[in-house]
Amino acid sequence: MTPLKKCTKCGEEKPKTLEFFGLQKKRWFRSECRKCVQKTARDWSRSEKGKRRKREIYHQKHPLAVERVKKRTMESLTGLKNCTKCGETKPFDAFYKQTKASNGRKAVCRDCEKKYYKENINSRRRYSREYLAANRDKLNLQQRQNSAGLSASYIKSRIKKSININNVPEDLIELKRIHITLKRIRNERKKEQPANP
Ligand SMILES: [Zn+2]
Ligand SMILES: [Zn+2]
Repeated sequence: MTPLKKCTKCGEEKPKTLEFFGLQKKRWFRSECRKCVQKTARDWSRSEKGKRRKREIYHQKHPLAVERVKKRTMESLTGLKNCTKCGETKPFDAFYKQTKASNGRKAVCRDCEKKYYKENINSRRRYSREYLAANRDKLNLQQRQNSAGLSASYIKSRIKKSININNVPEDLIELKRIHITLKRIRNERKKEQPANP
């Protein structure tokens, strides 16, 4: 039978095996059972001191994360942001919005983005022309399906075409859907009428 060993912490007697006692310096059994060792470690990591230490270790391991937080805090305190492209410091308004970015603004300023857009307009146009040419059948089919099924994206594009807005409200989509449906019924009737006067 396996001999028993008394844990110095909880005082319970448990079999002197690796299942119940961890090793110390890789050679002999620890005086405290595994459960007590685990509990001590857990308590420590939940204590203020342990939390602080864990934070310190995290900061050492991830210096970039610390830099990011510092940068974000400085930005929100001053209301200014540094453009990563031109390097100029500008107020938040000079950057386009991006929900996930630091302080909700993009890293590159509006001027730099506009400049990039202008400089690359030809290559972008060429790309979209080539893409359209290569995928014409697929796109046409999709458009026909969207139009026949009155999909939300199709209706949105129709609304955007007639009035120039970016965010189309949901109820407007519903109204437009009814509108298009009525129009289609009217057109169908017009087509039928000449045949049966
Ligand atoms: Zn114990
Ligand atoms: Zn810039």
